[in-house]
Order: sequence, then structure tokens, then C-alpha cells
Amino acid sequence: MNLADIKAVEKLLSLPQKIVIIPHKNPDGDAIGSTLALWHYLKNRQQKATVVSPNDYPKFLKWMPENETILNFESKNSQALAALQEASLIFTLDFNHFARTGQLAPLLEASQAKFIMIDHHQAPDDYADITYSDVSMSSTCEMVYNFIEFLGDIDSITPEIADCIYTGIMTDTGSFKFSSTTSRTHRIVADLIDKGANNTKIHTKTYNTNSPSRLHLLGTALKNMVILEAYRTAYITLSQEELDTYEYKKGDTEGFVNYGLTLEGIRLAVIFIENKEEGIIKISFRSEGDFSVNEFARKHFNGGGHDNAAGGRSDVSIEETAKYFISLLENYKDKLNA
Ligand code: 5GP
Ligand code: MN
Repeated sequence: MNLADIKAVEKLLSLPQKIVIIPHKNPDGDAIGSTLALWHYLKNRQQKATVVSPNDYPKFLKWMPENETILNFESKNSQALAALQEASLIFTLDFNHFARTGQLAPLLEASQAKFIMIDHHQAPDDYADITYSDVSMSSTCEMVYNFIEFLGDIDSITPEIADCIYTGIMTDTGSFKFSSTTSRTHRIVADLIDKGANNTKIHTKTYNTNSPSRLHLLGTALKNMVILEAYRTAYITLSQEELDTYEYKKGDTEGFVNYGLTLEGIRLAVIFIENKEEGIIKISFRSEGDFSVNEFARKHFNGGGHDNAAGGRSDVSIEETAKYFISLLENYKDKLNA
């Protein structure tokens, strides 16, 4: 953030605002961690703030400090709507175009509030009065840490804020191993522990929440994995029927896509997940090295994300989607084998 933007934020926050903080639809650890961290920070500054989530989020994030104050737009609709309609200032975190908020998009479009964006995805839209966008950042949580530091408030980070920020950095970096993890990321994480983040508890609460049915679903996913050696690619399919068999709950497939990349020589890993209710196939892409799944998802699957982690969707059957995907790979053969 440049000095003018910092000054502008300081000016906004020097007045009492009605603040709404919004993560993207199907929020992950970084989205919930960053919105809740900012919520704690603003509340401690005596601001009136509310987090409004477009929809529900997985159980493995529901331990986070005061996450129960988050208004789920689907289940607490009238309260969430009221907060949005009276907002004077809206923070949008961990996304950069309104479409990523699903049914909240038209409301954001129509809002007269000031907007502040904090995000680390590519190609930000131009909707915000203040845009803090940086694709080199490991996570939006790392940017919230920076944001608090820009405002000269680093010492106001409480153990609750530290827990939230730590969680988002941890989940978005695959526990500090993706290439977006820098020495500064580690320094921030160290400082968060000094400020009271309970790192061991966070790992346990976030990752050790398996149910037997989820492990069985993982077994099915791994059995379904197809390896295309010529394209250094591995993909997984999960049909709605398979999800139903193992009592799929939100978040159960989190991380499945990463298994493909653990195979030696595999550069591209993909998972196709059928969602009968929405009538779509939800796709996650992960890559290792220079192959940009952000570009690939943007170009072919109506999606986007980061260079090495992106998502998208398809409106045809899971079989047709996989077939189409394979047909595309021939054009990328050289890149995947480079
Ligand atoms: P995941 O595969 O874990 O759902 O998402 C990986 C990354 O891609 C995340 O940073 C997420 O925000 C982004 N992403 C996932 N799905 C979509 C999508 O449909 N559109 C866009 N633009 N980004 C997505
Ligand atoms: Mn993120």
C-alpha cells in the first residue's frame, strides 16, 4: 500500500464507520482467517464491524476465535442484508471481483459504501476506493498483518488476531511449503507466535478433524486417480454418487487434489467434483513449477486463482469434462514437459 492509501485508510478509520467485511464464496482458511482477524482488529478500535460470508464454511474452521459472530448470508439472511445495506465501509478480502461472492455480487454492485480490497489474486477489478493487491503475497492473512503494520498498530495484535492470521497463512501456504512462502512469511509467523498464536493447537484443530467417512472418500478419490504420464498430469474424479456414499460434508475434499503432485514427475494435478445441486463440476488445479494453472483455468474453465493453485467449473458431465480436459493437454505437452 502506498502512503496516500495508508493516509486514506487512517482518515476513514478515524471516523465511526459501519463496516462489513466479506470473504469469497466457499471461504477457505485464508478467507475466514483474514476476515476474522480484521474484524477483531476493527472491533478493538471501537468500530462497528460485521463479517458477512456468502455461504457456509467447513467445520475445521469453526474453532476460530468468535467465528460464531460471522453472518452466513444463506442462514442469517435478514441480518446480513441489513448489515450490508447500512454499511458505510466494506472490506473485500481474498478475492478481487464481485462474481466470487455469488449472490452477494448484485448487492455489492449497488452499494454506496466505500470499498477497501485486500487480496493476493491476479487481475484485480477496479471496484475499490483503496486497492491493496499483491500477487507475490503468500496469503491475504499475510497482507492483513501488513495492513495492521502500515497503520502503526502492530503491537495491538492480540492472541485472537494472531491465531486467525496464522491459520490463513498456514492453509494458503500448505503449511509453509509453497513457493509463495518467503523468509518474511516465516518472520511474520514467528512474530505471531510471540504475540500468542497457539501454533500446535491451530494445526490440530484445522487438520486433525477427519471422520471415518472422509478418509473413505479419500480412498475412493485416490483409487479414481488417472495418471497421464505423457503430460505429467494426474487427475481425480468424484461423482455425486460417491460423495453421497461417504456422507460428503463441506470441506471434506479439501486437499485431495494435492496428492497428485506428490507423485514423482507429476507437474499438474486436477480434481473434478460433481455438484448435482448446482449442476456443475467444480474443478481444482495445482501445478509445480512454471505451468500456470491460473491461465489454464481462466482460459478453459471459467475460473482463475494463482499460478500454482487455481479453480474453475464446467457445465457438462464429469465424463465429458474429463474428456475435454484431456483433449486440451496435447496443446500444453511441451510446457508440461519443459
Ligand atoms: P481451490 O481449488 O482450493 O478451490 O482454489 C484454489 C485457488 O483458486 C484459490 O485461490 C481460489 O480463490 C481460486 N479459485 C477457485 N475457484 C475459482 C473460480 O471459480 N474462479 C476464480 N477466479 N478463482 C477460483
Ligand atoms: Mn488466499
